[in-house]
Amino acid sequence: MNSFDVVVIGSGPGGYVSAIRCAQLGFKTAIIEKYSTLGGTCLNVGCIPSKALLASSHHYAEIAHFADHGIEVSGEVKVNLEKMIARKKAVVDQTSGGINYLMDKNKITVFEGLGSFVDATHVAVAKADGTSETIEAKHTIIATGSKPSSLPFISIDKERVITSTEALSLKEVPKHLVIIGGGVIGIELGQVYLRLGAQVSVVEFMDRIIPGMDASLSKELTKVLKKQGMKFYTSHKVQSVERAGDVVTVKAENAKGEVITLEGDYSLVSVGRRPYTDGLNAEAAGVKISERGQVEVNDHLQTSASNIYAIGDVVRGAMLAHKAEEEGTMVAEILAGQKPHIDYNLIPGVVYTWPEVAAVGQTEEQLKAAGVAYKSGSFPFKALGRARASADLDGFVKILADAKTDEVLGIHMIGARTADLIAEAVVAMEYKASAEDISRMSHAHPTFAEAVKEAALAATDNRAIHV
Ligand code: FAD
Repeated sequence: MNSFDVVVIGSGPGGYVSAIRCAQLGFKTAIIEKYSTLGGTCLNVGCIPSKALLASSHHYAEIAHFADHGIEVSGEVKVNLEKMIARKKAVVDQTSGGINYLMDKNKITVFEGLGSFVDATHVAVAKADGTSETIEAKHTIIATGSKPSSLPFISIDKERVITSTEALSLKEVPKHLVIIGGGVIGIELGQVYLRLGAQVSVVEFMDRIIPGMDASLSKELTKVLKKQGMKFYTSHKVQSVERAGDVVTVKAENAKGEVITLEGDYSLVSVGRRPYTDGLNAEAAGVKISERGQVEVNDHLQTSASNIYAIGDVVRGAMLAHKAEEEGTMVAEILAGQKPHIDYNLIPGVVYTWPEVAAVGQTEEQLKAAGVAYKSGSFPFKALGRARASADLDGFVKILADAKTDEVLGIHMIGARTADLIAEAVVAMEYKASAEDISRMSHAHPTFAEAVKEAALAATDNRAIHV
């Protein structure tokens, strides 16, 4: 029987990063993946393909502004969706190949098949050809991720009533895409098809889209997307989603009991994701699953079975690739006797629309609820030379700092390239910077990053220079 120091179940960003860190630390490591490609949700049907389509559709949308830059396009410019989807697939395939290379390089044994516990130290791998192999595992790391969830009365047929997975491979641009759920995934994919020519309507139960983020970001993103033509029905509870032929009818009710009816040719159900443990047979290993379907873990990501750990979307916390990666690294280092730590307050959240939205730390709503005395400084992108040069004028950076100590408590930004700018915010907060610290650091001119410095100046002493 094959025997390993560490067996990782699931090859998403949590699992494969964890496997590499385990191998780096000298453990004999194996990884089990039920699909034929490595990389999990993120690489195959999540982060990477959605960003590929966002990039392609962004290029297309930019053509409308070419004339402003003195670029004349003659002849018809049109979308070839089949080619766009093929390019997305090529990006995914190439990146997945890169993970195969990393597994080889780090001498990690890859098993293709469904992993299920026989007991706390044995995992059976059921392969596609019907055979099964049992391997011995001194330690196991569960990294089985998540799947799209739905509402009990919605029947997802994967043709017209779809999840994000199908939305990444459509054969035509919808005429009217009705999106149920205004979270990150719904809004990103909504912008893809909006740019490609679809009418897009978003129905959201809460009173604003991207409800987990600072309300000022929701407000600005809604404003920009409305300008681009997206329609929003917030504070609406979906009652039914019915398909008849090519028509999907979505009915939703507001707080006053008024019902709206939206008719589309596709409906994207993006109401969240559920932790995935189907077929894992966790109970055979003594691993407890919570009522919400998550693998229960302590602060060290250890499950109720002491030699088994769990990471990523399948455990509590934000369902984000970089959170899964940090947890994967942390478990490997714990197994090696190190004392790693994750500050969950400093896991950034990003929406890859254009303008991009990014945040780290506490929102104003959270600070108010916790009774923390704070001050706030904002700076609009439209006052930046770089933003004017690129015609990327939407958005702002907002810095929240402790009223007494000036320590930065949260940074919230929407605008061009904020997905990358947020890294500065994470570094600053990791080192417990004050707003004044950031304001005194030189930021290259002209850059979008100057908005961070200016917001810090505004938060320090209301002394932004360019407003
Ligand atoms: P997963 O990536 O879900 O991987 C789990 C793997 O385990 C899968 O490959 C699965 O097949 C395998 N598996 C499950 N059970 C078994 C078993 N019993 N045996 C063998 N294999 C098994 N996050 C970001 O941070 N940034 C983004 O831009 C972003 N965009 C997204 C866009 C979309 C459309 C979606 C759907 C998600 C996006 N996410 C994004 C979320 C991100 O994909 C997840 O947070 C991340 O993939 C979680 O990683 P994971 O390793 O926990 O699990």
